[in-house]
Amino acid sequence: MTRSATARVTRVRATPQVRAPREKVSGAARGERNCSVARTLDIVSDAWAFLIIREAFFEAKTFEAFRSALDIPRATLTDRLRKLTRLQIFRQVAADTGQRKQYRLTRMGFDLYPSFISLMQFGDRWLAGEKSPPLVLVHRSCGCESHPIVACSACASELEARGVQYRDGPGAGRKPAKPGRNTRRASDGSRFMLGRPSSVSRALEIIGDKWSFMVVREGFFGNRRYDYIQSELGIAPNILTDRLSRLVAQGIFHRRLYQSAPERYEYLLTEMGRDLYGPFITMLAWGDRWLAKGKPPLLLRHTKCGHDFRASVICDKCHKPVIAADMQYRLNYDPRDYGALGPRSIT
Ligand SMILES: [Zn+2]
Ligand SMILES: [Zn+2]
Repeated sequence: MTRSATARVTRVRATPQVRAPREKVSGAARGERNCSVARTLDIVSDAWAFLIIREAFFEAKTFEAFRSALDIPRATLTDRLRKLTRLQIFRQVAADTGQRKQYRLTRMGFDLYPSFISLMQFGDRWLAGEKSPPLVLVHRSCGCESHPIVACSACASELEARGVQYRDGPGAGRKPAKPGRNTRRASDGSRFMLGRPSSVSRALEIIGDKWSFMVVREGFFGNRRYDYIQSELGIAPNILTDRLSRLVAQGIFHRRLYQSAPERYEYLLTEMGRDLYGPFITMLAWGDRWLAKGKPPLLLRHTKCGHDFRASVICDKCHKPVIAADMQYRLNYDPRDYGALGPRSIT
């Protein structure tokens, strides 16, 4: 990669409205942009890992509790618990005599809760269909039914994709793309739907595939055209074509003709697609906190208040940040239909 190419890319990222001239640079040569969302998705976009963390928020702690809630094969559960422990999402708690070993969320693990909540809000808004959302959240701190919002840490107003400017942070740069990444298939989407009905699962069924989410990320950065997205992500053309057509079918992007001979389309986020900004920016904040070693790849400025900010997920009623221990749930389904374990219910 040439020095001028680096400069051009950096400039475009700082001001996404300015489009760089189209360039043909292979993704493999340029490597993958350092990104806290990608790092977070490496962890939660594995369907089983995600489901295990979700059950932990619902207070599952033992191997058997996870197994019965998810009907997951023993070897798979062993593997994922080991992986999540290595990643410091869980810690193992030694058993007293005669008791089973427990897996407890670490602070880092508990801190994924706002990301789950923002995915849940998206799923509730767009994917619950005719039915009511599966869970109603009740915030203990204020006693209200809560519909948490993703807000600016500086001014506490709700964040929108269009109201944020990006610039390189101390962790900006690229790393070599992982070998084999381009061939990964989005094959396990349906697995997100195992177990209890969940708006988070429905959201991840659409964007839990990491490539799909990265394509959406490029949308937030203002990159609309196929060639440009391809060169930014270093993604194989067949995979990009596949993900774009899925995302169009799911209502996240719409296509717009911008050139007729030959026909070329650009991809614009729909209202539903733009609403993924909450989960996106929340996962970015988590990745910055726990995986960036104090060097965030991107710095964010809220146009409305003019301050640099972190995203925080707050209760829409009392504006306090949401944490797992303060939330209770009212179920819109019968937990007996989904195994013995239900979330702490107040019905
Ligand atoms: Zn602000
Ligand atoms: Zn509240």
